[in-house]
Amino acid sequence: MLVEDYEVEVASPECDLESPIYVAKVALSADISEAIPYVNATVEKGEFVPGLPALVFREGGRKYALRPREILISNITERPEALALARAMVGKINRIWDDRENIEPSYDSWEKPRVLDLLKLLPGTNCRECGVPTCMAFATRLSEGKTGVEECPHLARPENARRLMSLKELCG
Ligand code: SF4
Repeated sequence: MLVEDYEVEVASPECDLESPIYVAKVALSADISEAIPYVNATVEKGEFVPGLPALVFREGGRKYALRPREILISNITERPEALALARAMVGKINRIWDDRENIEPSYDSWEKPRVLDLLKLLPGTNCRECGVPTCMAFATRLSEGKTGVEECPHLARPENARRLMSLKELCG
């Protein structure tokens, strides 16, 4: 087992101290630098920074940032859930580390698609049916991996098949 112990601190985001959404900071008893490329190999759209190393990815509607001795978890709505999420992520890292002989480590980093490239492919009606006020807002959320192309109902129409295919290629 790589990480035997950890401590969880729950705080408001530094940019918004009044926010009802919290960030969990998980201080680790062990350095997970060597495990991070193995975790990167198992997650989708991991943004890997080799120099630190660090890895940012989304899972279950939350954003995780792994650093050598710390995990940050965003989008915590209730403080108690931070403990469960921290326990789950530490367990995942330990399982991946224990199984590393069967995993090819990845040093690749997912590149976010550019918002304007996505916007050009959206219908451009600003109809709000995807739940955000404009196609630009939707493109921004797409770029950040916070939503999926299926949330725009117009893209399912036959006349938009090429747009949809291009968007899927860009979003990976
Ligand atoms: S549903 Fe599609 S067309 Fe309408 S605002 Fe959202 S992205 Fe634009």
